[in-house]
Amino acid sequence: KDITIATLGSHTSLHILKGAKEEGFRTAVVCEKGREVPYQRFGVADEFILVDKFSDIVNEDVQQKLRDLNCIIVPHGSFIAYAGLDRVESEFYVPMFGNRSILRWEAERDLERKLLLASDIRIPKKFESSADIDRTVMVKFPGARGGKGYFVAASPEEFDKKIINMIDREWITEDDIEKAHIEEYVSGCNYCIHFFYSALKDEVEVLGMDSRFESNIDGVTRIPAKDQLELALDPSYVITGNHPVVIRESLLPQVFDIGDNLVEAAKELVKPGMNGPFCLQTLCTDNLEIVVFEMSARIDGGTNTFMHASAYSYIMFGEFMSMGRRIAREIKNAVEEDKLEVVIT
Ligand code: ATP
Repeated sequence: KDITIATLGSHTSLHILKGAKEEGFRTAVVCEKGREVPYQRFGVADEFILVDKFSDIVNEDVQQKLRDLNCIIVPHGSFIAYAGLDRVESEFYVPMFGNRSILRWEAERDLERKLLLASDIRIPKKFESSADIDRTVMVKFPGARGGKGYFVAASPEEFDKKIINMIDREWITEDDIEKAHIEEYVSGCNYCIHFFYSALKDEVEVLGMDSRFESNIDGVTRIPAKDQLELALDPSYVITGNHPVVIRESLLPQVFDIGDNLVEAAKELVKPGMNGPFCLQTLCTDNLEIVVFEMSARIDGGTNTFMHASAYSYIMFGEFMSMGRRIAREIKNAVEEDKLEVVIT
């Protein structure tokens, strides 16, 4: 029976579904009632599975509908957030594009670090205790989703002062203090690099790059320093949008090395390894070193900057190629080569 490519109606689903249609697949979207309008109006979905809440995608009846349609699910950030990683791992029996066991490695900071360190990738230095702070650091909290409550500090004293401020503002609680993740502040420019690892070809592709619009930090930095001091605004790093970027061409060898190294390390640590899209959020310093501060082991939201093509995906394919379409192309190639088991779990 023909394959249907399905995903949850959010995040990057517009170009996942559009790309699937361009490659000749039937498409299905699982969508919370009331959120289906974009998928109808842009005409990207053939089948609509409407649910009361997004998290119902793991319910048995929804899974059965997906299996009846012979679906391959493409997991994205919202899918994992709504369905919950535990349930995706243990209760979700619909074939999924990519390696589902790697999803936990991006979700847990310690596992993510382990994989990046094994890849010999430059990551920010981690501080075990606030007493060790000897340079500018960025302090992150697990509960502070979207970077609300992150702050910078340059000494143990400043750390303590800012922690108290955070508690006063009810951005964190006393219990969160010990969960603070303290890392070197990397002063540089932001490049989020969207790779695609083809397990069929055993090759890493660079398909696009974006940079982020973050509130309120982008607004704060538009205020002159003397006024910033008076206003005493607390920075937050809540992503509100993305813009496409290209990186200095001479940095591309470093970009490919980073992608290749990660794929090689993942083959050992998280068998069978990377499979399909992954994203590295980086900062490039003034000595042209690319430092990776975050990894996604699935399609990242910044791929929405190339729903048609990016500068890089055009160079690679010479046609419109979004990340969504690239996924569908991989599934199509796998079917043609009779190797579907290589690209799904
Ligand atoms: P996401 O939702 O993308 O996972 P998040 O809330 O987990 O985001 P991070 O991606 O870790 O947060 O960081 C948010 C922002 O903070 C980054 O986009 C970047 O602007 C800044 N940032 C993070 N780590 C560092 C660092 N080590 N040095 C400098 N800036 C950083």
